[in-house]
Amino acid sequence: MKKNVSFGHIPRKRFGQNFLEDMSIIDRLVASIAPKANDNMVEIGPGQGALTRPLLEYLDVLNAIELDRDLIPFLRAGLEPEGLTVHEADALKFNFANLMQERPLRVVGNLPYNISTPLIFHLLTYQEKIQDMHFMLQLEVVDRLAAEPNSKAYGRLTVMTQYYCQVFKLFDVPPTAFNPPPKVMSAIVRLKPRTFPLQATDMAVMDKVVRFSFSQRRKTLRNNLKQLLNAEQLDELNQDLKKRPEQLSVEDYVNLSNQIATFTLDDDINKRELSKSRTKNQQSE
Ligand code: SAM
Repeated sequence: MKKNVSFGHIPRKRFGQNFLEDMSIIDRLVASIAPKANDNMVEIGPGQGALTRPLLEYLDVLNAIELDRDLIPFLRAGLEPEGLTVHEADALKFNFANLMQERPLRVVGNLPYNISTPLIFHLLTYQEKIQDMHFMLQLEVVDRLAAEPNSKAYGRLTVMTQYYCQVFKLFDVPPTAFNPPPKVMSAIVRLKPRTFPLQATDMAVMDKVVRFSFSQRRKTLRNNLKQLLNAEQLDELNQDLKKRPEQLSVEDYVNLSNQIATFTLDDDINKRELSKSRTKNQQSE
């Protein structure tokens, strides 16, 4: 197995640094991304440049966002003349609108596992201007993104991601491909924003309905939505409320939230219960 070069940096756990070293995996990932010279691409967490270098063989320019300031000089000295612009920043707070040009954005990254879910939610807010995203993630997270209804992996992350994007699980990556090896299996996923978006009339309501619906997976929709709606409103819904949250498709959630968006919601219940439900969701995410 051919190994990728490294420049003596000691990997930092708090930055989720598991550096890709297996060239066959890197080649397969780059082939899946299929970069074109004039693509508007951004890499999250270039690290030591394992993916950055081969991408630059195809691209005229590449933006990269790296949080670890110790890695920045190496990246800048080694790769900036070749078309790389390194942004020393936290990708979770980065304003991706700054990178939007006429060409839609292509996002790639071997993501630190601890930020992958919030980062995907952050990027989804820019989905209209994104062509596609290719990520290396924990296999379990890829399974959740790509899950079908009626499965254990199907949840809030699935519904909200699939609302915006088509999700394609590409291939698994074993821990041996990294230095240091992570404890879990990884996988590559492609997220492609929908060409014909689903039509939720109010995304804040959709977000709330999905959060509440999954707040307690073992309970029925009626029980979960009781926190949000009064008895009359529940009776008006065109959904079988005996179902459990994982039994509804993404389209079912859009229809449900579009109906709920026509109701007047009790703000006090909302505020109080939403914060309770958030805490629960954060614990289970
Ligand atoms: N791309 C390299 C590779 O494949 O070998 C490194 C991948 S490593 C799993 C994750 C990288 O993301 C590290 O370089 C780490 O410093 C960086 N990183 C961690 N948190 C970040 C954040 N919030 N914003 C930007 N980069 C971050």
